[in-house]
Formats: sequence, C-alpha cells, structure tokens
Amino acid sequence: MDQIKIGAFIAECRKKRGWTQNQLAEQLGLTGKAVSKWETGRSMPDLSLFSSLCSLLEISVNELMAGAYISEEELRSKTDEVLMEVITNWLGQEERERKASGDKSERILKVSNVSKIYETENRKTLAVDDVSFEVQQGSFVGIMGKSGSGKTTLLNLIATIDKPTDGKVDIGGQIITDLSECKRAQFRREHLGFIFQEYNLLDTLTIYENIALALTVKDTLRENRNQIISELAERLAITSVVDRYPYEVSGGQRQRCACARAVAAKPDIILADEPTGALDSHAARQLLDIFVMLCREYGTTILMVTHDVLSASYCDRILFMQDGRIEAALSRGQMSRPDFLTKILEKIVWMEEGGNVF
Ligand code: ADP
Ligand code: MG
Repeated sequence: MDQIKIGAFIAECRKKRGWTQNQLAEQLGLTGKAVSKWETGRSMPDLSLFSSLCSLLEISVNELMAGAYISEEELRSKTDEVLMEVITNWLGQEERERKASGDKSERILKVSNVSKIYETENRKTLAVDDVSFEVQQGSFVGIMGKSGSGKTTLLNLIATIDKPTDGKVDIGGQIITDLSECKRAQFRREHLGFIFQEYNLLDTLTIYENIALALTVKDTLRENRNQIISELAERLAITSVVDRYPYEVSGGQRQRCACARAVAAKPDIILADEPTGALDSHAARQLLDIFVMLCREYGTTILMVTHDVLSASYCDRILFMQDGRIEAALSRGQMSRPDFLTKILEKIVWMEEGGNVF
C-alpha cells in the first residue's frame, strides 16, 4: 500500500469537487489537520471512515486503496490485490501490537494423548487413537489422510464441538477439554473461527446476518459492524448477494462469506475442514493466499483438513493420519511450494505402500 500515492489521490479527488481540506474534514467530522496528514502521506484514514470518504469523493474503496481510478477491466485483478491490503490494514494495529508483545514461537495448541471412541448400538469405532502434537502460533498446519482416517473427528475435538474419550487439548493455556459445555461454547465463540466445505452458514440468516453474527459475538459497535461488513463484502466480491440467503448464492460466494465471517472475528485459531473442496481453482487459490497472509502477517494459526495436495502445499507442516493415528509429518522449511508438493505426494505414495509399518 502506497500511503503517499493514496494521499495524493485523496487531494486530487477533493480538489475536483472544489473543496478545501477543511471543507472535506468538516463533512467527516474531523479537523483539516487530519485531512492534511492523509494528503501528505503521513497517515491513513481510519477504516471506519472509508465508506463515507469514498462516497464524498465519488470513488470506490478499491480506488482509494489503489490511489488511482480503476478501469472496469482492471477491477477483477485489482480486487484480489486490494483485498489483501484491506485485511492487512484493518486487522492492523491491534494485531500488530499483539504480535509485538507476544513471543513469536509461542505454542498455541497442545494435543496430548487424545482418543475418541464412537459407540453405536453394537459397534465401537476408535476414530482417533492416542494422538499427540503441538502447534506454534502463526503456523499453517495441514491434516491429510484417507476418508475415514479420523481427520474430521480430530478437528472437532480441537474445535470443542466434540469431547474426547481420553486425553487433553490445550489452546493458549486453557485446557478446553476440562471446560463445562457452557464455557466451551463461549470459548469457541471468542477464540475460534470455522470454515467447512459445506454447512458453513445458517440458512435462516442472510449472508449479511451470517457475517454479522461473528461481530455480534465480539460486541463490535453497530456502526462499526456495518462498516466492516460492507468493506469485507466488497473485497470478497459478495456485495451484490449480502441480502440473499445462503441457498440463493453460488458455492464460491458461500465460501467467501464464510471466510469473511471467520476473518471478521479475528480468531486465535481458524479450523478449516476441506475449505477448498467445493471451490473452483481460482477461488481456492484466493482463499489459500488469504490463509497464508493471515498466518504470516498477523500470527493467526490455521489448522486445515484437506485431501487436496495442492491446497496442502500452501501449509508449513502436514500431519498424515491413518486409522485414527498420526503416522507421519512433513515440514516445509525453506522448500518452495512446488518442491513441497512433490514431497507430500511422495509421502502419500510411501504411506499407501505401507511404509509406515516398518
Ligand atoms: P475423515 O474426516 O478422515 O474422513 P472421520 O473423522 O469423519 O474421518 O471418521 C473417522 C471414523 O469415525 C470413521 O470410521 C467414521 O465412520 C467414524 N465416525 C465419525 N463420526 C462418527 C459418529 N458420529 N458416530 C459413529 N462413528 C463415527
Ligand atoms: Mg472428514
């Protein structure tokens, strides 16, 4: 984001409307000094002002962030770029401070000897079998494995949606497996974000209300809530569908809405179960890029179940599950994404051949 360019663009648009800095400031309830600071690139308008500033200057938020008028043809590619900027800008201060004060290599998740047995009438299924692992804050961890290997069960145990038969789950120093049902629900709302392949959204609420849900939980002021949702909706190209119900929009739009909701809540951990499963490759890559950016820039931790090798190659580390156990792990280290993808494929083949037995 080029603050000086944005400042110059604000000045250009303001002059076009024939206003002084003070006249523009007045309409926004600010002093002329604030506008002067933007225009010289010394500061950026607060996100809560974006909408009113843009409508006064008759420009789009995309154009404001790009610091230039954007033609219709360029809009699509610019939108992706600007999405990153806005999330970065908006998550900005608070998260940056948190990151600065926190130890970067802090452990956020510790799973200790966790097992889950499902008992039905005449059958017991050991869905997760004595699993232990740790996850550092800000890392992007993938869980892979064949269908039925226990990935979703493991994720649900961490998500506090399900309770383990045995073992402990510690998230940020809280042993969540010890919490009461009521406390677990509160913990889930305050610290976790969810993205699933399907059933992400409540069908009885509109897209707008679905995103708002995350912010209601965080006690975000009503005016800020509207602001945040319209910004995110515009960035994620779902503005035209915010008043529709989930079953009235496409799968890609539903998933972008789910992403907006997960990001809006600024959770400590995002738990994603096959999030790209129903998306086309463009939408999938866009989502994965957002995930990587959230980890790198803001220390968000992401745990993603996937059976897609391409999606997995975006991760820092992969845990491979088989019959409820973690049978292997791979770290990306300094590897390029294509090299990591090859390594993941090799590991899958090795496991299929029974390599884990030896
Ligand atoms: P994955 O996500 O890797 O496909 P799951 O975690 O969904 O695997 O399932 C692991 C095993 O547990 C499977 O054998 C599945 O049939 C069983 N299972 C999952 N959920 C339940 C349930 N609610 N009741 C009984 N068995 C279940
Ligand atoms: Mg599953």
